[in-house]
Amino acid sequence: SLSDKLQNVFKKLRGKGRLSEADVKAALKEVKMALLEADVSFKVVKQFIKSVEARAIGQDVLNSLTPGQMVIKIVNEEMVSLMGSETTELKLNVGSAMTVIMMVGLQGAGKTTTSAKIAGKMKEKGKRPLLVACDVYRPAAVKQLQVNGEKQGVPVFSMGDRHNPVNIARAAIEHAEKNNNNIVILDTAGRLHIDEDMMAELQEIKGSVQVDQTVLVVDAMTGQDAVNAASMFQDKVGIDGVIITKLDGDTRGGAALSIRAVTGKPILYVGMGEKLSDLEQFYPDRMASRILGMGDVLTLIEKAEAQFDESQAKKLEQKMKKAEFDFNDYLEQLEQIKKMGGIGDMLNMLPGMGSKMKNVDIDESAMDRTKSIIYSMTPAERSNPDIINPSRKKRIAAGAGVDIAEVNRLMKQHEQSRKMMKQMAGMMGKAGKKGRFK
Ligand code: GDP
Ligand code: MG
Repeated sequence: SLSDKLQNVFKKLRGKGRLSEADVKAALKEVKMALLEADVSFKVVKQFIKSVEARAIGQDVLNSLTPGQMVIKIVNEEMVSLMGSETTELKLNVGSAMTVIMMVGLQGAGKTTTSAKIAGKMKEKGKRPLLVACDVYRPAAVKQLQVNGEKQGVPVFSMGDRHNPVNIARAAIEHAEKNNNNIVILDTAGRLHIDEDMMAELQEIKGSVQVDQTVLVVDAMTGQDAVNAASMFQDKVGIDGVIITKLDGDTRGGAALSIRAVTGKPILYVGMGEKLSDLEQFYPDRMASRILGMGDVLTLIEKAEAQFDESQAKKLEQKMKKAEFDFNDYLEQLEQIKKMGGIGDMLNMLPGMGSKMKNVDIDESAMDRTKSIIYSMTPAERSNPDIINPSRKKRIAAGAGVDIAEVNRLMKQHEQSRKMMKQMAGMMGKAGKKGRFK
């Protein structure tokens, strides 16, 4: 699936400590292929990759401590923006004014089901919806709407299949006015393919009654067809918003990514199942996380970025590489760990990492004792731990008010820490390599 493919690309990115421009370009090429395979439209993909690349190739990203994560974050942000950034509500006329909603889309997209789903939502909001059977072509279409309306406790207006949809729509609005219904949902007929008659009929309804919201229903499973349909409906009939159905299935996810960009219209809801309660508000950020398959990890990346001082960390990394890591650095590092809200927190967010680090015991009071021992050292001792002989140890212990054994332990820990921090530095570069990423 799209998520699997993207995660593979990201896994490789995170695995590298440093990224070159070529690394990023290669990764984005793979992202591009994955999106195209998932039926995101070509134009959209091209523009998307361009935006990501422009941001990702900058020196800020490449020189950052965690370039892999930064690139993933940019991909995520650009996806959110592609899908409209913000949640958009179906626009209803204010007060008691009637709102007429016309549902359009290809046959089988989910218009009838979604009409009933929306009616239920409106009823919950205290509105008085009326469902209208305008699909006079499909056998049993009227019956299907009646059954669904009944389930929702919402009245259904129908005139059988002997009238034309324009007349039905007119009569329905009159009926709604008389019966105090303030939402009228026109469930229109679709065709299997985009078809002049279908478009003409929808235009005719729109020309004959005041339609406030034209809502296009598309089936996520149909990928590029859904996107093509969306742009045709937008051209021929004009739409105000889109509902993507069947996102509960194993969809390729491409439709959600393209539709906003192709039509310029917001995604209002998503269908998440056949049940009439399975209609959810559309959240671009959640959808992006879902496509990237990485909810928790994004939170983790943000946390690490916000609190890990990059320049300090980099300096430290350099020192560790040269095996210069001394007690001054040790002190600095203790502060970093404290700032990050405890190392346990961090590790818990990385499934699979926790157990590995459990035996490295860092509780806060131990950290404070460690600090007081280091404070008792002379600057020379701190920057050159090798000179700390037994008599110096005795003096340090007395100064810190601890046992010599504890100073000895710290000396050993210092050695151990070098190893641990090496591991940590590595982990910052490949957060989440284990666990949810396979
Ligand atoms: P219409 O031809 O556009 O009116 O489509 P229908 O409302 O008749 O829906 C076609 C089929 O898709 C029906 O079997 C629905 O139950 C199913 N369906 C609609 N929306 C969803 C959805 O969000 N998830 C799933 N799994 N099935 C859906
Ligand atoms: Mg239908």
